[in-house]
Amino acid sequence: MSDSGRVAAGGSVRKDSSAANVGDRSDDSGRSDDSAANVGDRSDDSGRSDRKDSSAASEGRDGAGGSRLRPGVPFVAVHVACLAVFFVGWSPVALAVGVASYAARAFGITGFYHRCFAHRAFQVSRAVQFGGAVLGAAAAQRGPLWWVAHHRAHHRFTDRPGDPHSPRVDGLLRAHLLWLFTPANQHPGLQGVSDLARFREMRLLDRYHHLVPLTVAAGTFGLGALLAGVWPTLHTSAWQVLVWGFVLPTVALYHSTFAVNSIAHRFGRRRFATRDDSRNNWLVALLTLGEGWHNNHHRFPASARQGLSRLEVDPTWLGIRALAALGLARGLRNVPSWALAEARGGRQTDRADGSGSQPGSEPPLHPEQPARVR
Ligand SMILES: [Zn+2]
Ligand SMILES: [Zn+2]
Repeated sequence: MSDSGRVAAGGSVRKDSSAANVGDRSDDSGRSDDSAANVGDRSDDSGRSDRKDSSAASEGRDGAGGSRLRPGVPFVAVHVACLAVFFVGWSPVALAVGVASYAARAFGITGFYHRCFAHRAFQVSRAVQFGGAVLGAAAAQRGPLWWVAHHRAHHRFTDRPGDPHSPRVDGLLRAHLLWLFTPANQHPGLQGVSDLARFREMRLLDRYHHLVPLTVAAGTFGLGALLAGVWPTLHTSAWQVLVWGFVLPTVALYHSTFAVNSIAHRFGRRRFATRDDSRNNWLVALLTLGEGWHNNHHRFPASARQGLSRLEVDPTWLGIRALAALGLARGLRNVPSWALAEARGGRQTDRADGSGSQPGSEPPLHPEQPARVR
């Protein structure tokens, strides 16, 4: 099916297919996370392409993040809407809807946008891929192509010029959220995401991504109206469930996700001597279903698992394993057994030069492998 889904969406995609093939060759050669710097080096070319493509996108041609909505307007509006909580009050059922809304959409970002799409850490069918993309889009963090394009750039240029959000390069506030609104980051183009862009439904979703959170907002409002009408003893209302089930968790999810880019590159422990500033931060991990084990992630970016020890709880990894148990995911990539064993023993697992104590045993790194969907 993957071949039948191959769609050339302009010259940039066709060019990038060869880039993805380069990634394949590097995997075949057995290079692993030790080659993280090589990915950065290799991507100097990609970086130039990205910049070229940004200018192409600014001319209105094909590009990820197809919506032409001014990016800051809905972002500011949903923050201001949080003030409505002082008018609508709260109820246990509204709080429960909010927790479910946060957890489900967080998994859309962490499990699908990040680990499945950006890193190909596990494989899914085309239908599950689309379902996961819709779940991620529900978080109102733009479409999957836009999200993945920037995240792959982050891994290529981590904490160096070219990284879209680096506290070292641009400061903490810009790395947290201001980078979202710079013109250069609006339409990154399809370079680097051809494995996803060849699917028509993914390009459509990327272009009309804003329809998904709007539908979720309408759905929570409707759910609140239904609950208030059918079970008045729940003491809730349509507006209350809208605020608690959509507005508040959307804003919370913005800042927990952004904290991975900002806080987890500034504060926390470094188990691995990677060539960037990534940290393991337990609070960020708690809020992001395990994404805060960010130093682990930069050491083994292609792994579906980021928490390596018993104390490094990684709900996203548990969710991915649940998907696999249901037959909805396969080919889960894990960290090498030596890293797990040493992490569980509480020992530092890397040499000071970041090269890894057993570099031959790590999983392949390159994040731009073509999709292998059934
Ligand atoms: Zn990072
Ligand atoms: Zn990543």
